Amino acid sequence: MTEPLPIVEMRDISIEFPGVKALDGVDFRLIQGEVHALMGENGAGKSTLIKALTGVYKIDSGSILVSGQERLLHGTADAQAAGISTVYQEVNLVTNLSIGENVMLGHEVRGLLGINWRATHRAATEALARLGLDYLDTHLPLSSLSIAMQQLVAISRAMAIKAKVLILDEPTSSLDAAEVEGLFRVMRTLRDQGVAILFVSHFLDQIYAISDRLTVLRNGKYEGEYLTRDLDRHALISKMIGKDLDALKSLGGNRRTEERDRAVDPVVAIEGLGRRGSIEPTDLEIHRGEVVGFAGLLGSGRTELARLLYGADRPDEGSITIHGKRVDVKSPADGLNHRVAFSTENRRDEGIIADLTVRENMILAVQAERGWARPIPKKEQEEIVQRYIAALNVRPADPNRPIKNLSGGNQQKVLLGRWLATKPELLILDEPTRGIDVGAKAEIQEAVAELAEEGMSVVFISSELEEVVRLSERIVVLKDHQKIGEIVNGPDVTAQRIVDVIAAHGVEAAAHSSLVEAEDDIIAEVNE
Ligand code: ADP
Ligand code: MG
Repeated sequence: MTEPLPIVEMRDISIEFPGVKALDGVDFRLIQGEVHALMGENGAGKSTLIKALTGVYKIDSGSILVSGQERLLHGTADAQAAGISTVYQEVNLVTNLSIGENVMLGHEVRGLLGINWRATHRAATEALARLGLDYLDTHLPLSSLSIAMQQLVAISRAMAIKAKVLILDEPTSSLDAAEVEGLFRVMRTLRDQGVAILFVSHFLDQIYAISDRLTVLRNGKYEGEYLTRDLDRHALISKMIGKDLDALKSLGGNRRTEERDRAVDPVVAIEGLGRRGSIEPTDLEIHRGEVVGFAGLLGSGRTELARLLYGADRPDEGSITIHGKRVDVKSPADGLNHRVAFSTENRRDEGIIADLTVRENMILAVQAERGWARPIPKKEQEEIVQRYIAALNVRPADPNRPIKNLSGGNQQKVLLGRWLATKPELLILDEPTRGIDVGAKAEIQEAVAELAEEGMSVVFISSELEEVVRLSERIVVLKDHQKIGEIVNGPDVTAQRIVDVIAAHGVEAAAHSSLVEAEDDIIAEVNE
């Protein structure tokens, strides 16, 4: 079978920034009627390639052909004229205008007396119909739509200006599952109409769900182009990080469950700990060097339970015992005093402080613990910072950089370093790998496994069940604000198994209890 001619061909493209070859002789092509995923770790050059294609960056060398003709793209207007449109994560629309006005912005239908609004709205509806969105009332303000729908309107706008190439750079990072499905429906519709779509996402599931072809970049270099169906996940990740998955292999199987002597006192024990409307009374023991996974859907109570453990919320019943002593954890500062640290899932809003440097971000928790009146001496700061930059492989390894200039994965490593610097006995990690690239993810997973080896206890919360299964020794399953089971990890424990436990629970109380009995490694009553 001969392949159709590519609509875009980028040949031997190089772009250099002071000190960095962001792109080094990269080839890339887009074929019409295909979704093409551009893959690579953070810093690989994806956004730079996109900016070259959209005329934002001038290329130092190489050539760009659109429909077989070489084009010099000296700005976004040139790219648009060539039929190349981009929809960014932050939708660039005008929220106080109507949906129809946004779709047609700058391309309103004009008559003798100026803009013909009736015809403009009709054209908007036609453009929306191409995406199966003609049910939207084009007269409503854009602000009446969810962000996800606004994004679809932005795509519709790109189509109204007859884009042949649609570029979506991480469009899914703030969407929920249903919204992603909606976006994918639209993408498939456009693909079937012959549009070439360039798609960037950190979520491998999405890549496999939507893309036909993919190109992998590594360190600014072209690694290869593949049909998605020919490249399995392991092969893809290896190509992205440029090594065999040795790093991951050590974590390949599920973590070995140690023969725990349950008679040994746990580091932390909670009994009947609960808070109305947030989490039902819960029992749990966490031993030294143990990774306990919290699995459950968003809103299942996993974060809520963690919040009681480190003092962000106050329980209204139950007790927390640390090293056999009953304690009152009234605030996160109390938590830290008892050597319980928590790293938030909300990296952007609660975690990093964007304008501070890596150093300042990293010493923050230790400083808070000591009190702000006693600044940490320079030398000690340096020790902390150097130690965790090295241990967690923070890149670039420059403590004086503003943290906002680091990739998400490296920001996450700095956050992890911040809490490790407090030398916790129990470290609670809420979604530590969400939205970061595979390389950093593997490094963080490795770090967690190592910390546990060294004796730290870890609560690991993640929406990705595979990851929970890979790292945890025990998995606490939550649903509807309560703990519904506990699974001791072993070779036959899989993500699917956890999903089944969640799905089965509460369907019928009787059916559930027999399921618990049948599953010999689900401990119904842990503390007995
Ligand atoms: P990706 O999108 O794959 O994460 P980027 O294309 O953003 O990667 O970055 C590639 C490399 O180029 C990185 O090392 C990044 O730090 C560098 N870089 C990107 N944009 C600029 C810029 N405007 N100035 C200097 N360096 C940049
Ligand atoms: Mg990018």
